[in-house]
Amino acid sequence: MMGPHWWHNRFRGWGYRLTIPRQAILEVLSRTSEHLSAEEIYLEVHKQYPSIGLATIYRTLELLVEMGIVNKFDFGDGRARYELSEDSKGPKHHHHLICTICGQVVDYRDFSEEEKRFFEDLENALSRKYNFEIKNHQVMFYGICDRCKNK
Ligand SMILES: [Zn+2]
Ligand SMILES: [Zn+2]
Ligand SMILES: [Zn+2]
Repeated sequence: MMGPHWWHNRFRGWGYRLTIPRQAILEVLSRTSEHLSAEEIYLEVHKQYPSIGLATIYRTLELLVEMGIVNKFDFGDGRARYELSEDSKGPKHHHHLICTICGQVVDYRDFSEEEKRFFEDLENALSRKYNFEIKNHQVMFYGICDRCKNK
């Protein structure tokens, strides 16, 4: 038996109900480390809840993104991809390396001290320059992965 999921508090905070489509999508996303498209999420949800349609999946994903529970990415392959913004251990901040040939996405969070300092300095400088309070960032590096390079 798993303890209550971290997203319950978010729903309480927003005053929204945790409906079955919302719960089903969050459970699919919490079971995978992949960045799923709406169609892939739909296929997974469909196995358990055949009555939930694709339009509901799209609408629900938009809501979850707005609530900050789910991150939406564009990896340049023509479809939006989604992942949970946190896991039970807290915000799962990471950066992405994306292969433009096979579409492989590498998540990494073992940031070097140098990289951490670089992004901190950059955020501070941008905040000052534009008088803009930065809350978060997404980082994606596009290129060719190890496997594709060796083909
Ligand atoms: Zn970062
Ligand atoms: Zn590749
Ligand atoms: Zn990711």
